[in-house]
Amino acid sequence: MYDFRIDDVLSFIQREGVKRVLLQFADGLKQHASSVYEELNEEASSVEVLTSGSSCYGACDVAFDEALNVRADGIVHYGHTPFPGAFSYAENLGVKILFVETFSKLDISGVIDKAIGVLSSMGKVVNVGLTATLQEAPYVPTFKRRLEGEGYRVHIGTGSNRVKYTGQVLGCDYSSALSINDEVEVFLHLGGGLFHALGLGLITQKPVLLCDPYRNEVKDIEREVKRVKAARLYSVVRSMENAKRYCIVVGCKWRQRHIHSAMKIKRLLEKKGKKVSLVTLYEVSPQALDNLSEPDSFVITACPRIPIDDYMNYRRPILTVLEALIVAGELKLEEWSLCDWVLNEKAAGNNALKG
Ligand code: SF4
Repeated sequence: MYDFRIDDVLSFIQREGVKRVLLQFADGLKQHASSVYEELNEEASSVEVLTSGSSCYGACDVAFDEALNVRADGIVHYGHTPFPGAFSYAENLGVKILFVETFSKLDISGVIDKAIGVLSSMGKVVNVGLTATLQEAPYVPTFKRRLEGEGYRVHIGTGSNRVKYTGQVLGCDYSSALSINDEVEVFLHLGGGLFHALGLGLITQKPVLLCDPYRNEVKDIEREVKRVKAARLYSVVRSMENAKRYCIVVGCKWRQRHIHSAMKIKRLLEKKGKKVSLVTLYEVSPQALDNLSEPDSFVITACPRIPIDDYMNYRRPILTVLEALIVAGELKLEEWSLCDWVLNEKAAGNNALKG
């Protein structure tokens, strides 16, 4: 189903003289971890191979700390393209790193046929935007040609330096979609599961068709987008009305350490008369927050998708940085949106907050 590029990994190990390698898989790829491990273990008998079993949801979370803990001198990271700074950070630690994109090998012709069927049933749509998750990014040109063959005008955006391919989106970076949003009537997102398509709908406020080649289905996700947005607004209002004590969570994963953002939110909430504490967490989970029983509400400065996708698992409101800015009166409730990585890292969504 995926291309794990074993030959490239073997070349990397040999070229860089790696003696102990730590394999890290995006969570969605962990089901294949044992097979990849066994293949490498057999092919590269001179190297010690370990697999990281910790969670990994994004390129923000490269297992540098774990590599140091087990004295691995190489990391092979499966499933994400590198964030800026990843290679220089690794070099400073004395660790060699290889990112393996792990493209999908599925036949997507069936899902394209279905997407064209659903689009034509929507009536007079001319301009469509195309996005994809990394695993499906190589299929974007094929999808585009098929849509153009049916008479659609297809827009594909170029993203920030956190995304490598045109049309590629991350859970906290929809810059490629936002760059074409004004021209687009309907977005088509190619990828497995709701996660990326949901973020696309929340941030662009345009209709989204999720084209899932793993389920071979195409789905209009308007209902899911509306449900999540309503739940988030409810959480924000509940916090504004009831919460006196806040706890700001600072993530400890590589690019989830947003201490600057956390300090800024702390100052703003204190100005509003709230009591605010800061806590560090490596893994944000319902159990970890349940242990902290005193705060009325939490602000998550680690991954901005935790409050969006997991809010139903927490007993008290958990807010994104953007939502905390609404509570602090720096943004209006009508300005609610998906919190992207820029706002999450800098808490600088408007001029009043810059500097
Ligand atoms: S911060 Fe969250 S959404 Fe962004 S890349 Fe990391 S895991 Fe994905």
